[in-house]
Amino acid sequence: MNYDIIIIGAGPAGLSFARSLKDSKLKLLVIEKAPAKAIQKPAPDGREIALTHLSEKLLKELDVWERISPESISPIKSAKVMDGNSPYSLGFDTDNKSGDALGYLVPNYRIRQALYNAVEGQDNLEFMTDISVNSLSTDNQGGVVHLSNGESRQAKLIVAADSRFSATRREMGIGASMKDFGKTAIVCRMEHQQPHEQTAFECFHYGRTLAVLPMAGKLSSIVITVDNELADDIVNMDEAEFDRDIEQRFGHRLGDMKLIGERYAYPLVAVHADHFVANRFAVIGDAAVGMHPVTAHGFNLGLRGQATLASLIKNARIHGKDIGSKKVLAPYENRHMRITKPMYWGTNGIVGLFTDDRRPAKALRSLVLRVANNFPPIKHIIKNSLTEVRR
Ligand SMILES: Cc1cc2nc3c(=O)[nH]c(=O)nc-3n(C[C@H](O)[C@H](O)[C@H](O)COP(=O)(O)OP(=O)(O)OC[C@H]3O[C@@H](n4cnc5c(N)ncnc54)[C@H](O)[C@@H]3O)c2cc1C
Repeated sequence: MNYDIIIIGAGPAGLSFARSLKDSKLKLLVIEKAPAKAIQKPAPDGREIALTHLSEKLLKELDVWERISPESISPIKSAKVMDGNSPYSLGFDTDNKSGDALGYLVPNYRIRQALYNAVEGQDNLEFMTDISVNSLSTDNQGGVVHLSNGESRQAKLIVAADSRFSATRREMGIGASMKDFGKTAIVCRMEHQQPHEQTAFECFHYGRTLAVLPMAGKLSSIVITVDNELADDIVNMDEAEFDRDIEQRFGHRLGDMKLIGERYAYPLVAVHADHFVANRFAVIGDAAVGMHPVTAHGFNLGLRGQATLASLIKNARIHGKDIGSKKVLAPYENRHMRITKPMYWGTNGIVGLFTDDRRPAKALRSLVLRVANNFPPIKHIIKNSLTEVRR
């Protein structure tokens, strides 16, 4: 065997997993199809990631949190969910148990940069960039990956972190539930006249949704979700017209608003793998579960899942067990599925209801917000699942 573990994909999940195995004495290889530059100096991509308390804790354990500059970390102190044209909102605030923030908004490229800086020079880790895994196979001893440069590499275990459209997941015979929402999220940053007071807004307007998320200073991340056919028009809309449009749709709550930088479009497809493991193979990150961004859980789940798998592998290594065996991998699938399934189906259900503009659904939408607001146990459950105060 060339390696103990081959990790396919150097996105945030693949790099977190490599970092989690830093002191494991296991020989790791990360294979990434993008050029080295894209991993070493990730470019802004418009995604601002809402991190939960659990993710903060895990990133601190990985020595990654302190590598993100404090001015890039924006606390979310309260959140409001609005429905249709109504001024009524479902509100969440901080309390003593959850510390001084519901969560933190951090630019995706800053997280990726901090992760790369953390793994750079890691003794037990090698990188191959600008090279794709074209195919793979496993047997009872290990796995082999065939690369786009004609070479191949072997390991006791192959871990795929190769995105929600993971080709290796499919090749290993793992099916997945997929939900194409037929919608696109357009993300950008806007400066505004009034302070946001660290409040996040999720406005389920009729026909589209608008999220306004607080960044450092008088700056917010804007996420507009529309039917796919409208996306190009919004991305290419004249900037001044775009500014006025968002101001008006947001009810002038933040005064004058101004687009800063690019608008980025992400077609929305959610994916949940039927299994997270196969023979000497595991999927992590979006390759396991790719979420709709409305509940802001994609990377949070990815981080949690890789931590679960890494801890099982480290434990097996310490006790001299075979790290790629079914006995070691199966508990990862069991534990992570218990978390991801309710989150995945729950999120898709919320999206289904709050983007359904038919009259009965509108009535139900309004009722759901009022019940959640006025029934503390429900509100508590929603808040805990969104902020992940406890593991
Ligand atoms: C608009 C938007 C907002 C979001 N907001 C949030 C949020 O608030 N909170 C949150 O937790 N999450 C959020 N997410 C989700 C989060 O961005 C993803 O969950 C996360 O980036 C997934 O990381 P990953 O490493 O699993 O996959 P990816 O980032 O997709 O990385 C996969 C990597 O694998 C590589 N690769 C693919 N195939 C191969 C191959 N064959 N060979 C070699 N390399 C390969 C790719 O080049 C890539 O580098 C959001 C997503 C979007 C689109």
